This record gives sequence, C-alpha cells and structure tokens, in this order.
Amino acid sequence: MIPQKKRGQMIVLSGPSGAGKSTVIAELLSERSDIYFSVSFTTRKPRMGEEDGVNYNFVSEETFQAMVERNEFLEYAKYVDHYYGTSLKVIEEKLDAGIDVLLDIEVQGAAKVREKCPGAVLIFIFPPSVEELSRRLHGRHTDSEEVIEGRLRQAQIECSEIPNYDYLVVNDTVSKAAAEIMAILTAEGCRVKYHLDLMEGV
Ligand code: 5GP
Repeated sequence: MIPQKKRGQMIVLSGPSGAGKSTVIAELLSERSDIYFSVSFTTRKPRMGEEDGVNYNFVSEETFQAMVERNEFLEYAKYVDHYYGTSLKVIEEKLDAGIDVLLDIEVQGAAKVREKCPGAVLIFIFPPSVEELSRRLHGRHTDSEEVIEGRLRQAQIECSEIPNYDYLVVNDTVSKAAAEIMAILTAEGCRVKYHLDLMEGV
C-alpha cells in the first residue's frame, strides 16, 4: 500500500497590493480549514480592524532585530518602510506534523523560501489587468493618488518576479481564484516524485 502523506506542503502566495490576496486567502481557508495560515511578525502598526496575533504579530523594531539575530525567521524582508518575517519554529512544527502551511509574503521573501525549501509551491496572484489593479486601488478610497502611484510602481517590480513562481492565478472572481489554488494543491499532492519520497523504505 502507498503510505499517506508524511510532511506538510509549504504554499507561498504573493501578489501586489490590490490583487485581492487577503480575500482569496479567506475564501481558500474557509474551504480548506486543514491549512495553517502563517501569522507573520511585522514592525508596521496595525490598521483599523487588524488584531495582534491574528493578522500579524505586531512587534517593535528592537524585538524584530533581536529575532533576526537569534535566527528565528525562515525568511524576512523590508517592504516599503517596514520589516516582515516568518517564524521558523511554528512553520517547522506544523510541517513536521503533516499540516500544510500557507505563507502570504512578498517577492523577496518568496525567493528566500524557494532557496531554503525547494519543495515549496509558489503561486502568484494578479488581477485581470493593470487597469483593473488601478481601478481596485482607487476604489478603496483609503489612499492618496501619490500612494496609489507608488503601489502601481511597486506592482510592476513585483510582476518582474513572476517567472520565478510555479503558478499564476488571475483573480477575476474570488471564488474562481480560490478554486484554482485548491486545484493546484490537489495536483501538487499527486506528484509522482512526492509519492516516490513517501515510498522510501517501503
Ligand atoms: P501589508 O502591510 O499590506 O499587510 O503587507 C505588505 C506586504 O508584506 C504584502 O505583500 C505581504 O504579502 C508581505 N508580507 C506579509 N508578511 C510577510 C512576511 O512574513 N515576510 C515577507 N517577506 N513578506 C510578508
């Protein structure tokens, strides 16, 4: 008999601000409650409605630097003016327990995860077009034109990293994007290589 899954799958999701990543992730997790969403550490201040320990672990720059020095991050990066990092300990515990782990991280962090965890599956989310991205950013009515322009420029830089990802999901509608990600995860779980690893010693 082919043994069942041994180690959890590391799933990395990236995409520019305005791509609708958080909404797609919420939809995905409502369907796949067995996936663990990694709560990152950040030095930025909480936004309205964000909760410490739920959306992020909000820490001071001193605390963050001390964690860097103690090698407590799987990866970390500076994005715009703040630091963001993924706790190594929590991720390892979950993967060892056979639980799939989802990281919502930007492109520099994703590149580090690719280096350290070659088995990770990297997915990039993008809206149907740059015009749609601009429309969504304007539609939020939360940022100035200058901030929006900055985000659109940042989005272009991020898009240049798409070739380093395994999959591109176009977020046309949230339910379709979440369904595509679930399909990717199902396919990844069926890879022959993955089963060969599992059959070692059988
Ligand atoms: P925001 O401040 O809008 O919540 O996040 C800004 C960017 O930081 C997003 O692209 C998000 O994916 C990324 N991010 C969140 N947590 C982490 C992390 O732990 N590591 C890295 N490298 N990026 C992160």
